[in-house]
Amino acid sequence: MLTDSFKINSKGHLTLGGADTVELAKEYGTPLYVFDENDIRNNCRSFKEAFEKYYGGNAKVYYASKAFSCKEMYRLVNSENLCTDVVSGGELYTALSAGFPAENIGFHGNNKTPDELSFALDSKVGRIVVDNMTELHTLNAIAKEKGVCQKILLRIKPGIDCHTHDYIKTGQIDCKFGFALENGEAAKAVALACSLENLDLVGIHCHIGSQIFETEPFQDAANIMISLAKDISENYGKTLSEINFGGGYGIKYTSEDKPVSKDESIKILCEAVKAACEKYAFPLPTICIEPGRSVVGASSLTLYTVGSVKEIKDIRTYVSVDGGMSDNPRYALYGAEYEAVVANKANKERDFVCTIAGKCCESGDLIQEHTSIQQAEVGDILAVLATGAYNYSMASNYNRIPRPAAVMVKDGAARIIIERETYEDLIKKDV
Ligand SMILES: *Cc1c(COP(=O)(O)O)cnc(C)c1O
Repeated sequence: MLTDSFKINSKGHLTLGGADTVELAKEYGTPLYVFDENDIRNNCRSFKEAFEKYYGGNAKVYYASKAFSCKEMYRLVNSENLCTDVVSGGELYTALSAGFPAENIGFHGNNKTPDELSFALDSKVGRIVVDNMTELHTLNAIAKEKGVCQKILLRIKPGIDCHTHDYIKTGQIDCKFGFALENGEAAKAVALACSLENLDLVGIHCHIGSQIFETEPFQDAANIMISLAKDISENYGKTLSEINFGGGYGIKYTSEDKPVSKDESIKILCEAVKAACEKYAFPLPTICIEPGRSVVGASSLTLYTVGSVKEIKDIRTYVSVDGGMSDNPRYALYGAEYEAVVANKANKERDFVCTIAGKCCESGDLIQEHTSIQQAEVGDILAVLATGAYNYSMASNYNRIPRPAAVMVKDGAARIIIERETYEDLIKKDV
């Protein structure tokens, strides 16, 4: 199986977290998102433990909740003593409604609205990562009006290209996020931030990409960010205490993917930060990271029911399922790769090459093309693996398809964490 999370039981059925996925499909219906609680908790702990080991624990791990945002996920992350990132008023509202401590929330985004900034200040979020000059002015004005001083970080483009997919690459200058270093934008932002009375510049932030398997980009980022922090201390007399390196740690979507372990990734980052601090004679800062996918992506799957198998001779065979781009748009968006398994035939050979299609009225509504699964028939339960990140959170109601339910599995027992949308939900806002 793709990872140790997925096993096959005595009935030949695929299991996750000790639960028989065929039984889950029967009990909760399909499509269904399934998450393994122990795996997610282990992911949280692996990051924290690595920072204990390699950096004396002077670190904060922010779960990037855009990967999967719902109340139960915020509760789980909070119970593991992680912080969390939000990128919209909606995510902030969800986190707060789940009781997430505001001081442990970081607020991101390249175009936070004045309403969102105001909401963030009223909620007393711990950090706001400021993206641009307009936001610096707007945030300062709102903070002034409310009589508060907000701790901020500046989002920096360190100019690193980490060889990942163009659509999800955010490190280089041609990118909508943050202040560029090479054209002096970052220096101007620092000067302005230092001069604004209701903002307290405590750190700098970068996020160099997503699904990264290399470690050099993080080492480069450490060097560039510490060097910038040193410049800031020399030129503005401000010693930053936090350097945030964002997320991007890759996970295993297919057997070809070879992710670096969390322990190794963090070790390399910590060593690079220590080396850079020594080189630039800069005091060791609190290291922050923001893993999303690597917390929740691999410990999960989506279950579908096969509704038709259409063989087009000498061309391809379409296996159509009862979901699609409405619950997983990532293949349609950027050709994301996945492995799939016929859950009720998991012990059989995967020798049936097919294209997995959704049920949306859109030819591009595919989950994967020319992929090998077990011989599929109508009524089979198809599991697409490692769908925990950026699936539910990117889901839509295209074709007025209700969003699926999600269950959390722990030691074989499942519980609903997001209920299935109903037709009534779909028309709730219609006038
Ligand atoms: C998307 C994002 C993350 C999380 O990225 P992953 O690849 O899911 O780890 C972290 N920080 C920022 C600023 C992001 O935009």
